[in-house]
Amino acid sequence: MTKKIDINKIFPSCGEQKCEFILGAHNASQFPDIHYPEFAFIGASNVGKSSLINALTAQKVAIVSNTPGRTRQLNFFLLSDRITIVDMPGYGFAKAADKHIANWQRTSFEYFAKRAQLKRVFLLLDPIKGLKKSDHDMANIFNSVGINFQIILTKIDKIDPRKLVDIEKKIREESSLWPAMHPKFIFTSSKRNEGLSDIKSEIIEVLSHL
Ligand code: GDP
Repeated sequence: MTKKIDINKIFPSCGEQKCEFILGAHNASQFPDIHYPEFAFIGASNVGKSSLINALTAQKVAIVSNTPGRTRQLNFFLLSDRITIVDMPGYGFAKAADKHIANWQRTSFEYFAKRAQLKRVFLLLDPIKGLKKSDHDMANIFNSVGINFQIILTKIDKIDPRKLVDIEKKIREESSLWPAMHPKFIFTSSKRNEGLSDIKSEIIEVLSHL
């Protein structure tokens, strides 16, 4: 059975959306004990995640996430008192110390494996850079724990549309072994505000089936 969800209650078009920072978690014991449907955004450093979350929530949410000391934690936000958005730390950073990477991997894995309220992960990829080993590793984690994930291609204003088709095809071929992947890709540009309505529609679709 599906429920009818009013998109304006979560993403009001008049810009009155309320997005509150709940907390930043460094480890699993700090994950907030709240039970709204949760949507996580993850991707390599510099993929355009902060810009996209800001555009989606129509607020400078990511200033919080980019505050020194908070970039390596999972930042939880409550949107319109109805859903939780989780801004995951960027991965693939070359300069981080091994102990930080190990902690990040452990915390992220625990989050994906244990968080029952997590309804979908959006995996962000920069089509110019293509699919990197760290992206593969992440997608493999989602499949191993059975988390539904969906690919968002970012910064599409920077790439020739014909090349984008080729890249989508290539990613699909490489990802053929990922049963947990949603078949639909979302194409976005925060710069041009493109694709935001597709992300919102996906979130509404998920909510309508809960
Ligand atoms: P994060 O590290 O994943 O949070 O990435 P940011 O959102 O901070 O973006 C990294 C860089 O990419 C910044 O210089 C942004 O201005 C740029 N950027 C982000 N989104 C877009 C986009 O849609 N189009 C273009 N052309 N640049 C973007």
